[in-house]
Amino acid sequence: MDYHYTMQVCMNGHVTEERMEERTCEVDYCEECGAKAICECPTCGTPIKGEERFDGIVAIGFEAEPPKYCYKCGDPFPWTKASLEALEELAQLDDLLDENDVKDLSVSAKEIMSETPKTKVAAIKFKKILSRAGSETATAARELFVDIVAETAKRTIWPS
Ligand SMILES: [Zn+2]
Ligand SMILES: [Zn+2]
Repeated sequence: MDYHYTMQVCMNGHVTEERMEERTCEVDYCEECGAKAICECPTCGTPIKGEERFDGIVAIGFEAEPPKYCYKCGDPFPWTKASLEALEELAQLDDLLDENDVKDLSVSAKEIMSETPKTKVAAIKFKKILSRAGSETATAARELFVDIVAETAKRTIWPS
């Protein structure tokens, strides 16, 4: 039986509840940032998939991360969208980047979020555009994305 708890996440991507029964979800506010928390996809209403549940066993001690995209409709969740929009705004403010750069950066930012055959290429593109950007944009992009991009992308863009 494939059976998951529902996860409640604030609009900025903080997990507020990891293990909710599907039908007990109500609106709460995030303790960390005060934003409204949701437990279903705003586009299609599918509950946000939380931890897998096993009969009689409770897994303790690992920190849940919010999903980036809805598994039912494929739309980015609000916190994913917020990071992408923030990056686009930053890029638009950067005098060193032209319109095409901004567009390419946004497209590749979407592609580095998850592990796909295109992740690596997108990561190289992302890195290349950022190298032409101002240092403020590059720093901010790192802060916004380093924890949420796919592992392959992280290793390519910010090898440590
Ligand atoms: Zn929050
Ligand atoms: Zn959805």
